Amino acid sequence: MGVWTKSLRTGFLVMSLIASAYPAPDTADLKRMSARFAPTELRVDLSHLSAGDRAALAELVRAARILDDVFIDQLWSGGHAELAKLKQDHSDLGQARLRYFWLNKGPWSDLDGHVAFLPGVPERKPAGANFYPEDMSKEEFEAWVKTLSSDQLKSAEGFFSVIRRQGGKLTAVRYSEAYKARLDECAALLRKAAEHTTNASLKRFLTARADAFHSNDYYASDVAWMDLDSPVDVTIGPYETYNDELFGYKAAFEAYINLRDEAESAKVKFFADHLQDVENNLPMDPKFRNPKIGALAPIAVVNEVYCSGDAAHGVQTAAYNLPNDERVVQEKGAKRVMLRNVQEAKFRTNLMPIAGHVLAASSTSLLDFDAFFTHILAHELSHGIGPQQITVGGRQTTARKELKELYSSIEEAKADATGLFMLQFLSDRKAVKIDDRRLYTTYLASSFRTLRFGLKEAHGKGMAMQFNYLIDKGAFVRRNGRYEIDFTKMKDAVRDLVHDLLTLEATGDYTGAKRMMDKLVMIHPEEQKIIEGLKDVPVDIAPNFVTATSLAGDVRP
Ligand code: ZN
Repeated sequence: MGVWTKSLRTGFLVMSLIASAYPAPDTADLKRMSARFAPTELRVDLSHLSAGDRAALAELVRAARILDDVFIDQLWSGGHAELAKLKQDHSDLGQARLRYFWLNKGPWSDLDGHVAFLPGVPERKPAGANFYPEDMSKEEFEAWVKTLSSDQLKSAEGFFSVIRRQGGKLTAVRYSEAYKARLDECAALLRKAAEHTTNASLKRFLTARADAFHSNDYYASDVAWMDLDSPVDVTIGPYETYNDELFGYKAAFEAYINLRDEAESAKVKFFADHLQDVENNLPMDPKFRNPKIGALAPIAVVNEVYCSGDAAHGVQTAAYNLPNDERVVQEKGAKRVMLRNVQEAKFRTNLMPIAGHVLAASSTSLLDFDAFFTHILAHELSHGIGPQQITVGGRQTTARKELKELYSSIEEAKADATGLFMLQFLSDRKAVKIDDRRLYTTYLASSFRTLRFGLKEAHGKGMAMQFNYLIDKGAFVRRNGRYEIDFTKMKDAVRDLVHDLLTLEATGDYTGAKRMMDKLVMIHPEEQKIIEGLKDVPVDIAPNFVTATSLAGDVRP
């Protein structure tokens, strides 16, 4: 997984500005809390779109907007009443509350462990959100499902139903019933968009998804989504289950309305076509190299016009993997969608100021978005090469199984380092034009963006490992509280790092992985000082959807 994906949403407690809900934050507090999201305009160039696709896009933004309403209801039963109340309150405090409510799509602060920032609401987000009755315990649900037939059980534990109480007894209500009015409206707009577009695969997906909103059966439309091959790239429906912290069963509605980035998609295809060549040259014992690497999940690079619902609260998604339905994944695989303009917005509002605190003056001109994004692509592709199926003492196993809880940190570090290696390799072969000074310097600045969030999860641990390894090798140079690359050492140091990580995976060496992590997963006082200096740098963006607004009118509450 890349950086800034949804998995990072829960990792932000370190940035917390409120310790408890009471007393509720005042206007100044709320302004500070909102300021962690830098207002950023999101624009997309529509000039290459056909008239039909342009008309379709406007309908799709309107359809997506409805899913904000559905999501607000999914998150909390009182969400719409609270939002209506805040809209009536024109005081400074009321406006600050409304703004922060909209950033979270509810009364709990995503960046602060879902603690309430409004008075008179539940102090924390209920674990089951509004997917279950607020007074239902886990035990009650578990006892209830034991009484159900296998069909009823499927619905009760399925993605696409909410659990309600009727006459005191629990019952599963299908999304197509629970959200009928809004889903009907949304489906009608999807059908309108389907009429406008000239792209057959988009027409198929939109029609199938509109049907699914009525039938509650999402299978055929998930399959159609995998076959989508269209300049207008749409993801719309109930998908992720993170908001259901009780069981992780229930999918939240969201939408991403995107345009495909043709140039970057071609770049991904070029890299993917060269992956076997990179594998054949990986810096590890040749016996560990895979003569035939597996098929790669497709990667779509897009620019986001609009997002809504579950996609539009807290930290903005910069990449996602879907679908989640195992049957579709078995049959068609999954797709990774990368939102380039969202990454660029984060780069501008977040990485550029960080670089200002971190890089030596002579290095700042080397910070480069293109290098940043190309490395993210290389990171994703690198997950597809290197040792996965391995043999340990004659036993067939996997690197994941052998390295256990250390695997994801090692694998994230490997993907970063191997991504650098891949780009350097292709650049040395003149297959791509990459300015390695920009690549390495941007990567150095970017490491602080990850370290800033601490060492709790795999990306942070993996980054600390790389950072300290490269410091020890003299490739990252720390001087007077600023950092730069020693370009005479960097290439070899990266090669050594890739060698060490790949060899741990190839041999399933748990003890070796533990030793390396014990030595390197730490933040030294020098870096800690820099990180403390970053506390006023925004954590993320608050997108202003300029292009969406120009197409479909105001998209705010
Ligand atoms: Zn990754």
